[in-house]
Amino acid sequence: MKSVAIIGAGISGLTAAFCLKRKDVPVTVYEAGNHVGGVIQSVRKGGYLAECGPNTILETSPQIAQLVCDAGLESRRLYSDPKADARYIVRYRRPIAMPGSPLGFLTTRLFTTKAKLAVLREPFVPRRSDRKEESVAEFVERRLNREFLDQAIDALVAGVYAGDPHKLSLPQAFPRLAELEARYGSLIRGQIFGARERRRRGEVAKDRAPKFSFDEGLQVLPDTLAAQLGEAMKFNASVTKLTRNENNWRLTTANGEAEFGAVIYCGTAYRLAEMKVEVRAGSPLPAEFAGGTSVGAHGVTRPANEIDLSAFAEIRYPPVASVVLGFRREDVTHPCEGFGMLIPKVEGFKILGTIFSSSLFPNRAPAGQLTLTSYLGGERQPELASLPAEKLIQLTCEDLRVLLGVRGQPTFTHCVVYPRAIPQYNLGFGHYRERLAEIENRAPELFFAGHYRDGVSLGDSILSGCNVAGRVGKFLATK
Ligand SMILES: Cc1cc2nc3c(=O)[nH]c(=O)nc-3n(C[C@H](O)[C@H](O)[C@H](O)COP(=O)(O)OP(=O)(O)OC[C@H]3O[C@@H](n4cnc5c(N)ncnc54)[C@H](O)[C@@H]3O)c2cc1C
Repeated sequence: MKSVAIIGAGISGLTAAFCLKRKDVPVTVYEAGNHVGGVIQSVRKGGYLAECGPNTILETSPQIAQLVCDAGLESRRLYSDPKADARYIVRYRRPIAMPGSPLGFLTTRLFTTKAKLAVLREPFVPRRSDRKEESVAEFVERRLNREFLDQAIDALVAGVYAGDPHKLSLPQAFPRLAELEARYGSLIRGQIFGARERRRRGEVAKDRAPKFSFDEGLQVLPDTLAAQLGEAMKFNASVTKLTRNENNWRLTTANGEAEFGAVIYCGTAYRLAEMKVEVRAGSPLPAEFAGGTSVGAHGVTRPANEIDLSAFAEIRYPPVASVVLGFRREDVTHPCEGFGMLIPKVEGFKILGTIFSSSLFPNRAPAGQLTLTSYLGGERQPELASLPAEKLIQLTCEDLRVLLGVRGQPTFTHCVVYPRAIPQYNLGFGHYRERLAEIENRAPELFFAGHYRDGVSLGDSILSGCNVAGRVGKFLATK
């Protein structure tokens, strides 16, 4: 059996490696850093458990539950408290609960009568007839109205992408919404009829999917997968070059070289752009990859046997600072029961939103304390993410004072900055996906998976890892 190299030990790469190993495919995982999990970072300190990166996994597909089961982690999985489902959006400088029913929608203070009427009108708005790629903002203004965009969608987009709805592409960033319009002619009709089809497929919509983590935080999942991969894990092993020779891919790191029958890239888009990929004469790959010179993206002349990946550096990853704070329960006026609050730009706060972490899971704070995880930066105010930790804590406390009635000083603080946090599926992002598919078609032993291609959530990354393992397994079976 040919062996497979997996580049990147984030959740996508580990899932792919774990699934292949279970099929007895020999794997080696190369990780540039010295820890597994990529952006996942759970820190246990002084009775608090801080999640600096992702907080929860949405169980949108049975494949996600299957991975937890195969990893032997069912007894350590914690579903979020069902009472903690309430989500708040800030309006009039106060968190207001998002309505959970049609009656709740009609009576909420979150939207004016004009916005409520726009929802009732939505099923009658004609679907777009041309094929122009719309931004999320254009789509929402066309089908609903400006108030929906400014007061709700802007906040939701900040919560998922830390992004800007005027730049994000609707079909790339929210393909389900684009599909609902294309298929049912309306989001509301699509919600009703699409739910039946999802039930038939055994899938769950993101807004209804159960959320989970583990007793010691999300880090438990990558740590467990890596432990089961054992000797296959290589740390401090940044892959800088791939060379396709007659029979195999040769992979180069600072520590040396090794050959594999197939390679899966599960890193980031900006590191992919830095990687040199060469095809040697005599390889079975198409002739245009061997000999002569070509002009690649940005007008750089490079040998035609080099696959030009430089365009992937154009994918934006705005910085995000994550500020985890603990407070005495009696120092916070708001009950903080629920998932958390999202804040639209028009409300003028520094933080993008806050997760009520200790309301979601029981063991996030010592008795009598609560943990609040807030995010700053993103596309909205990227400059904030580079402020020193003390300043980030001060700005967060100022906002939480107004929004949640927090008093006094935090009893716990932990800040982490992600200089390149989440890829933006902006207008034109489809070209990058097409380029990856084209390379995979031409170089069939090279595969791409992960957040820069298959969706930015943890659930998407897990499914991406499962799916690429399936594709690689099938490919090896034909060899
Ligand atoms: C602050 C923040 C909060 C988030 N919150 C949530 C949330 O609550 N829920 C949710 O579902 N999602 C959330 N996400 C998104 C989710 O965490 C990510 O999309 C997901 O973890 C990406 O996993 P990945 O394996 O594709 O990539 P990554 O985690 O980025 O891992 C890629 C790995 O590849 C390695 N690598 C890159 N290039 C090379 C190379 N050349 N050689 C060797 N190794 C290489 C990197 O070092 C890294 O370890 C959040 C993300 C951030 C940043």
